[in-house]
Amino acid sequence: MENKTALITGSTSGIGLAIAKRFARGGYNIIFNGLEKEGPALAKEIGEQHQVKTFFSPANMLKGEEIRKLISEGEKKFGTIEVLVNNAGIQHVAPIEEFPEEKWNDIIGTILTAAFHTSKAVWKGMKEKKFGRIINIASAHGLIASEFKSAYVSAKHGLVGLTKSLALEGGKYGITVNAICPGYVITPLVQKQIEELSKLHGISKNEVVEKVMLSEQAVKEFTTTEAIAELAFYLASENSKLITGASITIDGGWTAH
Ligand code: NAD
Repeated sequence: MENKTALITGSTSGIGLAIAKRFARGGYNIIFNGLEKEGPALAKEIGEQHQVKTFFSPANMLKGEEIRKLISEGEKKFGTIEVLVNNAGIQHVAPIEEFPEEKWNDIIGTILTAAFHTSKAVWKGMKEKKFGRIINIASAHGLIASEFKSAYVSAKHGLVGLTKSLALEGGKYGITVNAICPGYVITPLVQKQIEELSKLHGISKNEVVEKVMLSEQAVKEFTTTEAIAELAFYLASENSKLITGASITIDGGWTAH
């Protein structure tokens, strides 16, 4: 049987990289994407390690045209893209009065509008194959809010909405669409936030972790990139075909309040 193909946006760092490694280990061809300069080397190394085909594209998720090019190139190389993981994301933390318009546009663009473009572009291939798995890496912030994160919370809530809407459209074509909603995970995105929140709240970095990040969780630990990757891999499997339109939390009980 031919290998399936997974496209993971923002897969040259953090959660996306862990997901790419898990799918490569599971025998998928991988389309890598991201802004890190190590992208081509990572794609080569992981492909060789797991004996799967890989390719890297630096497509900017803020540009619809680059996204469409990435997907048509991917389909030319590997055939249908069976799994799309919308993972690329950025953050900016600031009170609303000081929130730069440019940051608002970039956050909504990278997290929400990019997922619209990627989903739209892979849809035809998935529909023809009568199989598709779209997995949106949302956040606990897709379900609840925190102060100073107006753009991120809005984008992630929007991504949960897009997930539900596309799940309804995809059902008859064997396409499932789900959102994974992690709590905090130690990645470069969160390391930067610990510093920013420490300044904004006027507390130490340790206090940010204890009093801001993990305080609402029943299990007071950071989620791991590997645990999220395992969940994504399950959502791509045949067994998960009745899970669609769901927002699955992996947040130590944060959103159970
Ligand atoms: P990260 O900074 O380690 O990785 C983000 C990736 O997105 C990088 O590869 C980066 O190059 C890529 N990216 C950013 N802007 C891009 C653009 N315009 N075009 C192409 N690629 C772009 O962060 P992470 O923590 O691994 O975050 C991955 C996803 O998980 C994000 O959507 C984030 O919101 C979400 N998330 C993270 C956490 C957390 O605590 N780290 C929690 C919940 C959800």
